[in-house]
Amino acid sequence: MILDGKLVAKVRRDQLAQRCEAFKKKSGRRPGLAVILVGEDPASQVYVRNKIAACNEVGISSVERRLSASATQEKIADEIRALNEDKNIDGILLQLPLPKGLKAEPLTEMIRPDKDPDGLTMDNLGRLFVGRPRAISCTPFGVMKILEHYQIPLEGRHAVVVGRSQIVGKPMAQLLLAANCTVTICHSKSHDLESLTLLGDIVVVAAGRPELLGKSAFKKDAVVIDVGIHRLSKDDGTTKLVGDVRAQELDGWVKAITPVPGGVGPMTITMLLENTLNLAEAHL
Ligand code: NAD
Repeated sequence: MILDGKLVAKVRRDQLAQRCEAFKKKSGRRPGLAVILVGEDPASQVYVRNKIAACNEVGISSVERRLSASATQEKIADEIRALNEDKNIDGILLQLPLPKGLKAEPLTEMIRPDKDPDGLTMDNLGRLFVGRPRAISCTPFGVMKILEHYQIPLEGRHAVVVGRSQIVGKPMAQLLLAANCTVTICHSKSHDLESLTLLGDIVVVAAGRPELLGKSAFKKDAVVIDVGIHRLSKDDGTTKLVGDVRAQELDGWVKAITPVPGGVGPMTITMLLENTLNLAEAHL
């Protein structure tokens, strides 16, 4: 079975559009997301453009604050302080990575936790840890919504997460634990990765390594979530998108898998919108 993230994203975005309308009726304004983009990184510009388009689609008003690559730490901090005070802004997103020389963590930490739709602040990460989540990191939150949509049983199942980053692997493991999975976390220092992934009823692969795992890494009828996304050049000069999993090997072997593209990717932006709206509703 293909776990169609595009479809799940569409269903949720339709619901979000209705909730945005209801929010507007109640509050007299639209939920507001501010995106701070520092520098000219082309990939970041595309991500920001996509986020703003997605906001428009569901009825979230967005503002973009562009700062030059030479902006100082203090200048970005000033921008965050102003947006923290702005009553029309419910979510503030600092697009990462920042240009060289700038430190991201002290800046993301300045974002008011009740305006942090990426769930990156320590307050929001801590809340997830103690089981009282506010905004949850968008990619793992999106993975949970795909599993929920397709009614993949989680309780008592063994979930294996490959990757332990702050934005994907760690919150992913926490969410699966909260759903009563038995969770194993693997990372670049784990020995014999495949012996660990083979244990998984559900395996979430977020290693950032193109086509790292194939058929020998998964047990029969596992559910595979491929978070990785990489653009590879082909011999004929064109490019293709691949994940962390060699999906072509898994046909007829695993029970379900997210495709790349069209799996986890579309859910990440959707959950950013959902987090922003949740924060807006909490601001009423
Ligand atoms: P990251 O580089 O911060 O973390 C990668 C993690 O994988 C690390 O914890 C590392 O220990 C582990 N790892 C690396 N090589 C490994 C190996 N050989 N065996 C086991 N573990 C290994 O990356 P990230 O930000 O967590 O993102 C992971 C991947 O997901 C990337 O490909 C990224 O592009 C993708 N991603 C996709 C979306 C989306 O919306 N689809 C969102 C976020 C990240």
